[in-house]
Amino acid sequence: MNTTTAVPAQRLGATALGYPRIGPNRELKRALEAHWSGRLDAAGLEAAAAAVRSGMLDDLSVLDSVPTGTFSFYDHVLDTIVAVDALASRHRRETALASYFAAARGDAEAVPLEMTKWFDTNYHYLVPEIGPETAFAAKPEKAVAEFLEAKERGLDARPVLLGPVSFLLLAKPSEGAPADFVPFDRLGDLVEVYVELLAALGEAGAGLIQLDEPALCADRTTEELAATAAVYRRLVGSAGILVAGGYGPFGEALPVLLEAGVEGVALDLVRGRSDLEALETLDVSRETFLLAGVIDGRNIWRADLAKGAADIARLQAISDRVGVASSSSLLHVPVDLDAEHELPEALTERLAFARQKLREITALADPEGSREARPEAPAAWRDESVRTRLADLGPDADRRLPYVERQAAQAERVALPPLPTTTIGSFPQTAELRNARAAHRRGLMIDADYKSRMKAEVAAVIAEQEKLGLDVLVHGEPERNDMVQYFAEQLTGFATTAGGWVQSYGSRCVRPPVLYGDVARNAPMTVEWTSYAQSLTEKPVKGMLTGPVTILAWSFVRDDQPLADTADQVALALRDEVADLEAAGTAIIQVDEPALRELLPVRAASRAAYRDWATRSFRLATAGVRPETAIHTHLCYSEFGEVIDAIAALDADVTSIEASRSKMEILADLDRADYRSAVGPGVWDIHSPRVPATDDMAEALRLAVAALGPDRVWANPDCGLKTRRYEEVRPSLAGLVEAARIVREQL
Ligand code: GLN
Ligand code: ZN
Repeated sequence: MNTTTAVPAQRLGATALGYPRIGPNRELKRALEAHWSGRLDAAGLEAAAAAVRSGMLDDLSVLDSVPTGTFSFYDHVLDTIVAVDALASRHRRETALASYFAAARGDAEAVPLEMTKWFDTNYHYLVPEIGPETAFAAKPEKAVAEFLEAKERGLDARPVLLGPVSFLLLAKPSEGAPADFVPFDRLGDLVEVYVELLAALGEAGAGLIQLDEPALCADRTTEELAATAAVYRRLVGSAGILVAGGYGPFGEALPVLLEAGVEGVALDLVRGRSDLEALETLDVSRETFLLAGVIDGRNIWRADLAKGAADIARLQAISDRVGVASSSSLLHVPVDLDAEHELPEALTERLAFARQKLREITALADPEGSREARPEAPAAWRDESVRTRLADLGPDADRRLPYVERQAAQAERVALPPLPTTTIGSFPQTAELRNARAAHRRGLMIDADYKSRMKAEVAAVIAEQEKLGLDVLVHGEPERNDMVQYFAEQLTGFATTAGGWVQSYGSRCVRPPVLYGDVARNAPMTVEWTSYAQSLTEKPVKGMLTGPVTILAWSFVRDDQPLADTADQVALALRDEVADLEAAGTAIIQVDEPALRELLPVRAASRAAYRDWATRSFRLATAGVRPETAIHTHLCYSEFGEVIDAIAALDADVTSIEASRSKMEILADLDRADYRSAVGPGVWDIHSPRVPATDDMAEALRLAVAALGPDRVWANPDCGLKTRRYEEVRPSLAGLVEAARIVREQL
């Protein structure tokens, strides 16, 4: 495809696939929480939401095409449930808003929808429940209203909806659906509702409509792709459709979409670069709208505009209609870098939050705009000693002895009964504790006072556990604001932002640290707390660390070297901490990896490589200990089916794992994966405020003993207790200790 005629430089369409929706200062979070606690009525909440949407449009108005409908009171998947009228009957209430929050959060009458992770991100969506009986109907009100809000401002508005294929692939069968039913079976019915939604938006004046199909960035079966083709052939008749993926390459779905006749595709050219090569070999009409997603929607680094421009030029060789966009919705990045005043200048210069990314997009769309290449990281961010140490590693990622031999040595060092009882680490973070931390942070409480306050808490937590009769104790983590930030604040190579919040789910936001340079540890980070706790009791106290994978998953990580290399640097810092804990006499060290599943690549082809580096970095952090020192790990927040082999490859001595809601199914999976060490299947679902019945916990332990044998089972809750109250924790742990005692006696 050779064009020799000189084309006058033309402005390209600039757009983003979606925008942060919680407000630059988390205004929506505050309004939601006020509403839920009864301090703000529905009208007040609507007004706060309108102000947030108006602010979003202010920001987005620099674009040529403005995405609308990406605001949400809680979650865009729940918005889609409402748009297709698929709310479960148990969530239907007097008002639309009450129904919405009943589905999102549950209430006295009904449990909420299940929540789960959105692809390989730390965002959580609400899982639609779809059955053969679900009566879909079009409810375009929200989409139309938000479209009109933008249109009335004179903006070129582009409604965004979650597409029907992804909606059903993200759904689960409703309770009582036949065993062979899958939500995807309902695609034929759902597509007719989408035809109506598109028609309503068309009537309101929408020309181009964006349908997000992130599920097409995952491996799909031939049947699913065929169904996708049929759906889009049906939909293209009713509107101009732009299909966005946003979480990697479309891969095999790309020709399917193009053949179906969609008007355009939004390409993720950060994680899905193979689509660019694929397009160059496909027979693409020069009329096809190709949106170049060259600005990373998932990370906060300034873009290399020279590279972006080169990608755009490649697309221009294929089509006459090329636009510039973010690679995904900007939902995953904070709003405004200009609100950060404490970051080092060299770092600020290299960052872009959502507002800054919009400027990068418009620069690339402008033929006269900047094409600046990204400057290299400053030399000061390099740490040659870390690099040399990594280059010179020997077989340091392997324990010296196999599990059976370690187990014998550990049993000799620490005498424990069968089914030892323990907890996952944190104890309730009371309002008083949080206030003390806030006062300390603001300089209102001096270090010495803060430390003694925290030590008093550690002492109280140890006393609680002694009284309950637990076998292996924890210090309770009162000094930790967050399990990643606590370490990020002490390691070099990390910075923390003042207001870099991103939505995790609903009103909940997280503030990921920025991992920008080589990572090193200056001094022990946890030893003082663990040793202090140990000094108060004869029982063993576990050391408590966060693993390298989780530290990366919950940070914004440098993108100038492979994640595997960064993980190894973090692992070395943790390895030193593990060594110091061991030298201080700690017999059991727990290294949490709750995010092990989260970073698993969406596409199967990339998974083996991930499992390799992720588990290696964990072992690099932990394998330096003597055989008689026990390494525990903890996993939660997900279904582990696809990382079972990885769990085995961590080679921990004990793995505590979320299991109570899945009825211990995890045990059979672990067995199949040749996992041979011990397991602490969570027997108390700490995500529920309910005090578990002792009998239920005993029954769960019996199942575990039946599956694993009596020597490989620990008794513990599903996760840490920091969000629970002592009124729940005391009776629940007492029940857990009692359950272990009952089952022990029956062995
Ligand atoms: N040790 C941590 C705690 O108990 C683990 C938290 C987690 O798994 N997310 O809080
Ligand atoms: Zn957990």
